[in-house]
Amino acid sequence: MIELVSSERCVGCTLCVKVCPTNVFDKNVDGVPIIARQEDCQTCFICEAYCPVDALYVAPFENPLDAVPSEEELIQTKLLGSWRETIGWGKGRTTLAEVDTTPFIDLILPPRR
Ligand code: SF4
Ligand code: SF4
Repeated sequence: MIELVSSERCVGCTLCVKVCPTNVFDKNVDGVPIIARQEDCQTCFICEAYCPVDALYVAPFENPLDAVPSEEELIQTKLLGSWRETIGWGKGRTTLAEVDTTPFIDLILPPRR
């Protein structure tokens, strides 16, 4: 579930507002989106993947955390934007698609003769 928008990192691009499939965020006058409907979050990580500056933290749980780590703690523990980093999105990173060796095409096509 979405837990934090970093006001330090956010550049106000509103990409997270646009890509969220359940309209969790509201735009804000200072440019940093507000988590307006956290209960609608589907923990899909799309917003975190799209944020160009690793400013979002989506916790891998379906319910809100009792105690959300501070922004400083999330940075120190490298959790802020960690999903995006894991999938390799972002400048200078290697995407999972680039290193995926799953023989996917062989699984969906009929056996070769
Ligand atoms: S994790 Fe998915 S549903 Fe939740 S705020 Fe981000 S984009 Fe929206
Ligand atoms: S995608 Fe990231 S930088 Fe853009 S508005 Fe959302 S939190 Fe801010």
